Amino acid sequence: MKAKSLQIPSAGAVIERTVIERRELREHDVLIDIKYSGICHSDIHQGEGDWGDGIFPMVPGHEIVGLVAAVGPGVTTFSAGDRVGVGCFVDSCGECEYCLAGEEQYCKKGVVSTYNAMDYDGNPTYGGYSQNIVVTERFVVRVPDKLNLDVAAPLLCAGITTYSPLRHWHAGPGKKVAVVGMGGLGHLGVQFAHALGAEVTVLSTSLSKQEEAFKLGADHYYATRDPETFTKLAGSFDLILNTVSANLDMDAYLSLLRIDGTIVNVGAPAKPDTYSAFSLIMARRSLAGSLVGGIRETQEMLDFCAEHGIAPLIEVIGADPEEVQHAWKRVKQSDVRYRFVIDTAQLNRD
Ligand code: NAP
Ligand code: ZN
Repeated sequence: MKAKSLQIPSAGAVIERTVIERRELREHDVLIDIKYSGICHSDIHQGEGDWGDGIFPMVPGHEIVGLVAAVGPGVTTFSAGDRVGVGCFVDSCGECEYCLAGEEQYCKKGVVSTYNAMDYDGNPTYGGYSQNIVVTERFVVRVPDKLNLDVAAPLLCAGITTYSPLRHWHAGPGKKVAVVGMGGLGHLGVQFAHALGAEVTVLSTSLSKQEEAFKLGADHYYATRDPETFTKLAGSFDLILNTVSANLDMDAYLSLLRIDGTIVNVGAPAKPDTYSAFSLIMARRSLAGSLVGGIRETQEMLDFCAEHGIAPLIEVIGADPEEVQHAWKRVKQSDVRYRFVIDTAQLNRD
């Protein structure tokens, strides 16, 4: 099955059109006509080789929404026309303790990423900057009717990546939560932390996003370029969700935690962060990380968004390679409010 797509031929090369082959439907496969695909900063990290060797040519995209076009004979949960989504993963062993617990992202055999990965048959996976995708039904989620398809797309990665750690570390009433970086992930983290009942502080490089942060539910907002922020807020937070794509001064951020507080890094910069052991020791603090979220929790997050009126602020762009390349440039300059979404249906026109 052919799929018009956008690819990066080699690390850091210019995005171009291509046509890829999708597998024929197997027993439990779902064929999805992709309508929208979000642009995650991870697409850029991988397309530009920030995280080491990638698999090229690469078709990025792991914030995928569309309509079911066809299903394999064994599929019972989806049928043609259903509004569905696919996130960062397309397969896992399904049998290990983590898969059985609904945390497929930590599968012992190794979860299969939606792109820049090899599937269990040894074939490269290709993501959502594409007309269609074939995914086993276990990795397909339902988009609630209350959510428009375009705004639903970023929830499949940015949404679940912020929702999951906020739930895991019990963001809620009585908890002071800071979100560092108000980009694609961060602006959703603010909405989730607020809806869960926490007192929310945004720590952004500048004051330029303050007004929007308050509208999204932030209670406080500080610029991290102002050194006084770190003096004023020392020892304040129970939980800090770090969504920044670049390296930070970890000791400075650890100093903002209360005793027993935790920083969760979801941002994944190219180079390692460093920190002093004393920043942890002196206040029994924890430095943690979190990878996206499992399929069951992704569905729960989508339903939570529908129930609480949570949605990303998006800028929809066309599917020309130049437009996508330009959007990548703007993401790298932190010039996006707050997620680009590609109208992938436009690939059908050419
Ligand atoms: P994004 O939209 O570019 O947002 C990142 C934000 O970080 C920017 O908006 C900016 O916020 C801040 N920032 C950027 N450069 C900075 C710098 N040099 N110093 C301080 N702050 C800076 O990116 P995203 O799509 O939200 O992704 C964020 C990171 O999470 C990426 O590294 C991505 O790969 C990673 N990620 C991880 C997971 C996971 O499972 N752990 C999943 C998805 C994405 P302000 O303007 O507010 O300062
Ligand atoms: Zn992502």
